[in-house]
Order: sequence, then structure tokens, then C-alpha cells
Amino acid sequence: MIPNCIARRLSHDLAVDLGTANTLVYVKGRGVVVNEPSVVAIQKNGRKGGRVLAVGNDAKMMLGRTPGDIEAIRPMRDGVIADFEGAETMLRQLIKKAHTGRRLIRPRIIVGVPSGITQVEKNAVRETALSAGASEVFLIDQPIAAAIGADLPVMDPVCSMVVDIGGGTTQVAVMSLAGIVYSKSVRGAGDKMDEAIMQYVKQRHNLLIGEQSAESIKTTIGNALADNGAESVQIKGRDTLTGIPRSIAIDSNEVRDALTEPVSVIVATVKEALEEIPPELSSDLIDRGIVLTGGVALLRNLDKRLHKETGLAVRIADDPLSTVALGAGKALDMGDVFKGILN
Ligand code: ADP
Ligand code: MG
Repeated sequence: MIPNCIARRLSHDLAVDLGTANTLVYVKGRGVVVNEPSVVAIQKNGRKGGRVLAVGNDAKMMLGRTPGDIEAIRPMRDGVIADFEGAETMLRQLIKKAHTGRRLIRPRIIVGVPSGITQVEKNAVRETALSAGASEVFLIDQPIAAAIGADLPVMDPVCSMVVDIGGGTTQVAVMSLAGIVYSKSVRGAGDKMDEAIMQYVKQRHNLLIGEQSAESIKTTIGNALADNGAESVQIKGRDTLTGIPRSIAIDSNEVRDALTEPVSVIVATVKEALEEIPPELSSDLIDRGIVLTGGVALLRNLDKRLHKETGLAVRIADDPLSTVALGAGKALDMGDVFKGILN
């Protein structure tokens, strides 16, 4: 039996951003130590479950190119757990990775969850973290974590607006005095953009491409507003008519076209939020602007497009892919200050 005081020193509490696209683990006092895609590769062996071959980066490389008996799955969909067992396995392995050499003690874990998910969905996250090895689980709303991570004054009586755009969801939240004044989460973000690019390439170029190629087109030449000149990239896929592999060039204007629908969903979600919050709060936003977090915050000119559509200043958080994990981690490090916002 380990005395309590030593146990506390040995125990490394964790903050986890269990995202649809990426899972990050923050260790108290050390920062983000694990940052990997939310993917699990499983070897099916006829029995229930199967053997886990890889999680994270290694598993993502297998997506779409697995032989019959191996399956690479993404256990999170639209911000919530879609595959319970997969999520647990992934979390257990990533926690293990974060805790190399210190596996004696079960950590306390803070997990960021989309605001507005149901009680059942929250319980699923709690149960998953407990069975993945947590001794205690606290939940924090992702937009609040994002705002803390972006150094917004969430505890003050001024209003801050965060738009977090990840793989599965676009979350808009307006906060003041550590509470959420308005929040809305819509399904449709980075993954929908990848699908839109796949569709476009199929219809316009008769070429079938995979999710990974679509994602790479999005992150290299994807954009939400035209600027000087067009860039193009070569993409490889399978011809829909001949069935033969073929390579074509696609340019940034085409990709912007392909992204029209998913980008307009983001714009509409932000505009709707601005229309629905009380006027005193909107006047704060004129002074303070909007902060973008999540991977899609990096989509070229999305910030300019949102500025053009709303007239407000739009800032991209310093490290938008890590903001939620950093904020949840800060809530962990500063325990008492942020106690009231954990549930
Ligand atoms: P989640 O919280 O859902 O796990 P993330 O915040 O990690 O999502 O963001 C992942 C999404 O961001 C993916 O759809 C990814 O393709 C997208 N993304 C990452 N970098 C860029 C970029 N430079 N341009 C556009 N999208 C990007
Ligand atoms: Mg996220």
C-alpha cells in the first residue's frame, strides 16, 4: 500500500481531448505529451473483439488500405463515441503512452466533451475513461477548454466567442463569467470537407480518391476565399470509367468550389450565434472579436471569410489543434480556480 502523500506525487493527472480526428493527452505539469489520430486498427479473428494491432499514427496509415481481416476504425463520430470498445482501447493505449514508466497509479482524468451532448453520451465518455484506467473522471465543455487554452478571460464578466472546428463538429460558444451564454454544435466540419472533395473529384474528374488524399488536398490547397493566383496539386486515384489508376491536377479554385457547402455551414452557424445572443454581449464582441480553434481554423482564408461575413475581428488561436487539450490541462493545473466549470 502506497501512502497517500507519495501516491499524490506519483500520480500524474491527465487532461484528454478525445476528438473525432485527434486525441491529445496532457500530463499535469508536463504539457501535451501525446497527440495522435483517433484511429484503432484491429485484427479480426472470428471471436468477439479481436486483437488490437495499432492505435493513433500507426493505425491511421492503415485506414483504407487494410487486408480483409484487419479493420482500421475511427471510434469517434460527430464529436461523440460511436464505437465504445474502440474508444476504450484507444484511450487505454494513449494513456499508457503518456505515462511511460508510471503505471502504478490510476490517474484522475479531465475529458473535454462537446457542449450540448446528451447525458447518455456524457456517461459513455465517463465509463470509457474509467474502464481505460482512470480513477476519477471530470468532464469539461470543449468550448470552455478552448477559451481557457486560447487565454480568453472566461472567468471575467466580459463576453468571449470561440468557434471550434474539428473533424466532426463545428461548435460556437459565447462565454462570460465561466458559464456558457450561448452554444451550438453542428455536425459538419473537417470530415464533411473531405467528403465534399471526394464527391467533387468523382463528379468533375471521374476519379475515385480516398479520404486521406481528400484530406491532404484540403490541408494543402483548400481555401475559403480567393486570393492572388491559384495553386494546384497532382492527385492519384482510380478512374470511375476504366477502373485504371490515373493522376490529375486539381487547383485551389476548384477546391474552394468543392468546399462551398461545408464552409457555408460554418459561416451560417457563426452568424446565427451572433443574431441570437443578447445585444449587450454582442457589443463586447465588437471590441473583442472571435477566436477560431480546432484543425479547420487552419483552412486558408477561413478567418478572412468569417471577417468578411460578420465584420468582426477574427483571430486564429496560436496552436489551434492543441487549444482544447491545453485549456483542459490548464484547468487541471490550476485545479481550484477552475473547479466550478468541471462536471
Ligand atoms: P477533432 O477535435 O475533431 O479531433 P481537430 O481539432 O484535431 O479535430 O481537427 C482535425 C480536422 O482539422 C481534420 O478534419 C483535419 O483535416 C483538419 N485540418 C488540420 N489541418 C488543417 C489545415 N491546415 N487546413 C484545413 N484543415 C485542417
Ligand atoms: Mg476538437
